[in-house]
Amino acid sequence: MSYIQMQGERNRRIRVGSIICLAQTYEKHADEMHSTLPSEPVLFLKPASAVIHSGDAICIPAKSSCVHHEIELGVVIGKTAKKIDATQALDCVHGYLVCLDVTARDLQAEAKKTGHPWAIPKGFDTFAPISQIRKKQDIKDPNDLILELRCNRSVRQRASTTQLHWSVEQIISFISGIMTLQKGDIIFTGTPEGVGEIKRNDRIDARLYQHDELLCTLSVNVKDEND
Ligand code: MG
Repeated sequence: MSYIQMQGERNRRIRVGSIICLAQTYEKHADEMHSTLPSEPVLFLKPASAVIHSGDAICIPAKSSCVHHEIELGVVIGKTAKKIDATQALDCVHGYLVCLDVTARDLQAEAKKTGHPWAIPKGFDTFAPISQIRKKQDIKDPNDLILELRCNRSVRQRASTTQLHWSVEQIISFISGIMTLQKGDIIFTGTPEGVGEIKRNDRIDARLYQHDELLCTLSVNVKDEND
């Protein structure tokens, strides 16, 4: 079973439900993928079994020769929400975390060409590293946070959620109009620009800030499937 841990509460865990991800929600990332922002959110799912935590390792699968990091803001759902209005959307949020939407970019490119779904490029074991949860009371505005990803101490991605094309409220409202959100679901809200390849023995540090205040950290290593 996969779980999410509350920051500062060693014994409090929530079981991970659905992981609902958004594709292309930051304009500069859409640019770097030679694409344009979709007119409404594009969703895909990751299996809960892909979740790993700080101290674990992302495993590069033998089927892929190009795996990318994507740092994202994760929204953890705390109670059931169905067709919720954007003005009420934050009521169902339990907290926030920083997460990585690890992607087998070569397999995703093939899937895009053939029109196949993204379950394989996005769904390998270890492809959903998550930090502990920061409770929502500690966050003034989820639409004004900083995401920063370092690979071997070099900054690869750094951006503000002010640049998210849809607000967190709009994203929750949109998803809840399609699928009922339940406690333990996590929304991966999409990545800003700067995605890049990760390789065996890399160290990835992902952080979420509220201005200068560090809210969440996630540190994982990278290994090969056969290590
Ligand atoms: Mg992503």
